[in-house]
Amino acid sequence: MLLYNTLTRQEEPFSPLSGNTVRMYTCGLTVYARGHIGNFRTFVALDVLRRALKYVAGFEVRQVMNFTDVDDRTIEESKAAGVPLREYTNRYIEAFHEDAASLGLEPVEEYPRATDDANLRSMVEMIQALEANGHTYSSDGSVYFKISTLPDYGKLARLDHAGIKPGSRIDSDLYDKDDARDFVLWKATTRGEPTWDFGVGPGRPGWHIECSAMANRFLDGTPIDIHAGGVDLVFPHHENEIAQAEGATGQTFSRFWVHVEHLLLDKGTKMSKSLGNAFTLPDVLARGYRPSALRFALLMVHYRKQLRFSWASLDQAEEALKRLMTCLARLGGVTGGDAHPEFIDHVETARRHFVERISQDVNVPAGLGTMFELVRDVNVAIDSGELGQPDVGAVMATFDSFDQVLGIIALRRVEEAEPDVPVQEIERSIAERNHARARRDFSTADSIRESLETRGVLLEDAPTGTTWKRK
Ligand code: AMP
Ligand code: ZN
Repeated sequence: MLLYNTLTRQEEPFSPLSGNTVRMYTCGLTVYARGHIGNFRTFVALDVLRRALKYVAGFEVRQVMNFTDVDDRTIEESKAAGVPLREYTNRYIEAFHEDAASLGLEPVEEYPRATDDANLRSMVEMIQALEANGHTYSSDGSVYFKISTLPDYGKLARLDHAGIKPGSRIDSDLYDKDDARDFVLWKATTRGEPTWDFGVGPGRPGWHIECSAMANRFLDGTPIDIHAGGVDLVFPHHENEIAQAEGATGQTFSRFWVHVEHLLLDKGTKMSKSLGNAFTLPDVLARGYRPSALRFALLMVHYRKQLRFSWASLDQAEEALKRLMTCLARLGGVTGGDAHPEFIDHVETARRHFVERISQDVNVPAGLGTMFELVRDVNVAIDSGELGQPDVGAVMATFDSFDQVLGIIALRRVEEAEPDVPVQEIERSIAERNHARARRDFSTADSIRESLETRGVLLEDAPTGTTWKRK
């Protein structure tokens, strides 16, 4: 399997360092709000990578995905809400698990939280190792990483060393590439912030240290095989993770670095919680779409290319999914006829093509292309009587093998087996439709009504408001 490695800026053959198990770390959600569909673009893409490693390449996967439950933003938002940090972040961890299940993400092996004591202790141990190796200094009770002590600092983001400002430091968790500075490992307590004291003074971890420490702890040491996240994490987060882990252990941190490009809005701006332009999965459902349509839409562009989100792209995904499910239903209905070995050869070729395409840096759009060529060919074969009942099993098995990686057919089947649209979702959809009507966006309003109707819910408008009933 070929995988693009951000560290070397090229595709390289991938296999795990030892044995058959891939040890993989994925930076998870910062739980200060419900994850938006941009976050889930990254998580869905990495779910497909996980599935490809398992079901196409034949490896086992041990994957860790953290929750950042302490950082500048989580603290700020929990204070604003007047809720203790742990209780505040619990809500969004729960919401993440709900959305992840709705979108058909395979559960990963470990979901550590930064603020668990054992994890905080492993962060402090790593900071102590960095101190012992001469990579740190303290100032006003905070501990900083001194980037000039690590000659290859900047190797992932390819920093221009002339631009690095030695001696200046930064406390904030986020800053950009032109501002490479000494960064904080452990922040001294300020009033009203949560604080822990496990050996480097009272305070709390900086954002970056948690991932270096938890990757090391949960994946049994370094180097790990793959470290992954969205492209915005290359700098400073992943660069600093490398500095911390390699400065502490003297060993390569991760052999491969995988980065997923952003989900953008129609006009080309990044979807982001802090910009206030983000949609969540419940927002998408309230417009009458199903999670399977969103998963499909998120897969239509290769993970290393930017993806523009639009409601039209969801309509397109829904159309394609319907075409696929109709074909499978027709296939299931084939009764008579003979065996057609030549058609089965053709199906086998499609299966091989799919594997080749996925093995080429997880080329999902090309894989989808193969699958939809097969949909067309199966429809033609059924129409012309060139596909008989004895062929059905092999054809179905091929679609199932595609879906082990893509995870859309199984998801749609689960949705179809679900009896009714939940009342809460119907009410949200009605509210959403009312908003659309108020801003005279009648095409959105109509599409919400139509989507609900295909799912068995009829809306009736009366002067007193909108009511609903099940078909
Ligand atoms: P955060 O909650 O900001 O820590 O982000 C969680 C994950 O989502 C990280 O891997 C980010 O890189 C990724 N991410 C954030 N915004 C987007 C976006 N618009 N498109 C794709 N991935 C994103
Ligand atoms: Zn991380």
